[in-house]
Amino acid sequence: MSTDTPPLPSFVTRLKHFFSALTQHAADGFEKVSEEQLQERLSICQQCPSFTGTHCRECGCSCSGNNTFLNKLAWRSEACPLSKWPALTEETPPATN
Ligand code: SF4
Repeated sequence: MSTDTPPLPSFVTRLKHFFSALTQHAADGFEKVSEEQLQERLSICQQCPSFTGTHCRECGCSCSGNNTFLNKLAWRSEACPLSKWPALTEETPPATN
């Protein structure tokens, strides 16, 4: 294992991040992003050194191109912890998928 690649946050930290994100997602009406917005976020993650290929090392969340419930990239209210992509709002176009 490479020593210059930080591991994912601890399970407890990941759980805290998840429930914090879930609270925001609920407050946002469980809105998701469109397929185009999802792929745009994923392309940014794929160029980020914190991306494992399946997760973000900064928050420990799952990041993929799938529009699934547990995918951070699919939730409209989510934002990159390093500000590489923003949370979206009601003013952004609604998800079409
Ligand atoms: S969410 Fe941000 S920090 Fe995490 S992998 Fe994607 S671009 Fe990198």
